[in-house]
Amino acid sequence: MNNFDKIYSLAVAGVQRLIPYKAGKPIEELERELGLTQIIKLASNENPLGPGKKALEAIASVLPELALYPDGSGFLLKQALADKYSLDDSQITLGNGSNEILELVARAFLTPEHEAVFSQHAFAVYPIVTQAVGASAVVVPALNYGHDLDAMLLAVTEKTRLVFIANPNNPTGTLLSQASLVQFINALPDTCVCVLDEAYFEFVNDNDVAGINSIAWLSDHPNLLITRTFSKAYGLAGLRIGYGISSPQMADILNRVRQPFNNNSLALLAALAALSDDEHLQQTITVNAQGMQQLVDGFKALGLEWVPSAGNFVLVDLKQAGLPIYEALLRKGVIVRPVGVYELPNHLRISIGTKIENQVFLEALADILADVR
Ligand SMILES: *Cc1c(COP(=O)(O)O)cnc(C)c1O
Repeated sequence: MNNFDKIYSLAVAGVQRLIPYKAGKPIEELERELGLTQIIKLASNENPLGPGKKALEAIASVLPELALYPDGSGFLLKQALADKYSLDDSQITLGNGSNEILELVARAFLTPEHEAVFSQHAFAVYPIVTQAVGASAVVVPALNYGHDLDAMLLAVTEKTRLVFIANPNNPTGTLLSQASLVQFINALPDTCVCVLDEAYFEFVNDNDVAGINSIAWLSDHPNLLITRTFSKAYGLAGLRIGYGISSPQMADILNRVRQPFNNNSLALLAALAALSDDEHLQQTITVNAQGMQQLVDGFKALGLEWVPSAGNFVLVDLKQAGLPIYEALLRKGVIVRPVGVYELPNHLRISIGTKIENQVFLEALADILADVR
């Protein structure tokens, strides 16, 4: 160990063993590496239409005010969210992305003596926030790529302080029924907080038997925390803004550990504007539904299987190692997401793009598969 590496031994135990989150490859990085110019990124479940016009106008309007601190209480955005969901604004917690809410809840409830329960193939941030505070992760094997709620309930002990559930789940796109979820939450001991991560909730079709109504459960469950985001359907991933919905008591706890100005002025006003831009949201949902069909049809034509998805991405089963296919796609200027870290080495996760992006991806994939077959 040289003098500089010694510093690692001073970090808290969980952090010493922590493997950082690996994000989708940025377009600029691939440009630098391969000198390509026409690059398509279908790797991070971003909105292929970009932000809406109202959000962009709001951002422009805040620029002259940037010398001032943002409103640390996020008053206007909280009120708009409370109105939208018929809640009190004391039930909303704003975060620097909903990722921050996941981190706040871990910091507020977990210690090295405690456990967090989540599913195999669930969102990669759950193990990170759990380990960062030195708590133990209890990973429950997935059922048909989704959460096995019965097994997760059995994994809850008196040491369990948090259960993370992603619905729809990333990267698998699986959706739990509302009936099974409410049953789970009713059965959960009140010593355990249930984090219901609904980052993709806007994409869930209301006509599904599963149309989401988790907010209705808040009145019975002070230990329920729902998280949602402006990063996906609202097209504001670069600004970092998401929120938690909970009992006022839960929100009070999260508010104690957050930084005083955790949401920047651009994000606060852009999110507020985006909430009123129903046209952009509806267009996003329509483009997503059409793109999902286009990709699924393409997979069918290529003889590939996929996991039916309720989100804005789809997991395709290549029946062979995904990484070489991912790398071959990169060389053709298409960035998708390898999911080996999710214990899915033969799959790739494809974010739904515009019609043209989806077509370019499908043609590149067909070429690559024709070569390797
Ligand atoms: C994208 C995503 C999030 C949140 O992202 P933020 O940009 O931090 O709001 C949370 N959970 C899941 C499952 C996601 O896929």
